[in-house]
Amino acid sequence: MDEIKCNELNNIESEIFKDTLNKQIIFIEIKLKKTRIGFFNDKMGCTGEKEVIANHLNGGNARNLIQQFFKTDDACIICKKNKSLQRAHCHNYTRYDLLILAIDELYIDNITPIITGDIFRLFIVKHKLCPIYTLCRDCHQYYDKI
Ligand SMILES: [Zn+2]
Repeated sequence: MDEIKCNELNNIESEIFKDTLNKQIIFIEIKLKKTRIGFFNDKMGCTGEKEVIANHLNGGNARNLIQQFFKTDDACIICKKNKSLQRAHCHNYTRYDLLILAIDELYIDNITPIITGDIFRLFIVKHKLCPIYTLCRDCHQYYDKI
């Protein structure tokens, strides 16, 4: 396991961070225009406190959306193995943090519904701040411990 390289994943000045994020920004813009992922058409209105909405979405569909939306590279970016590949969120933002950023932008008050699909779309846009790395299971476990 490459500890130095794993540490680079959280460093916004590192090549691996900048390179992954720059590619991801373009990927998000192109894919959002043509995607047919059903979560974006979820018309259910959410009301209540921001944290409650974020927790609810974080528990299930936000995770599934990430897995469907972001593609995985061909190999682990740390060790180059191509088995058991997973998508790992950069540690600078959690999925919950990005949901809160999206909800913040749409929120009016705790009785005015905001549309779930709109939250999901903005949640994906917020990933322009946070690279998703392709890691094998071993490197992912290691990364999550540092
Ligand atoms: Zn690996």
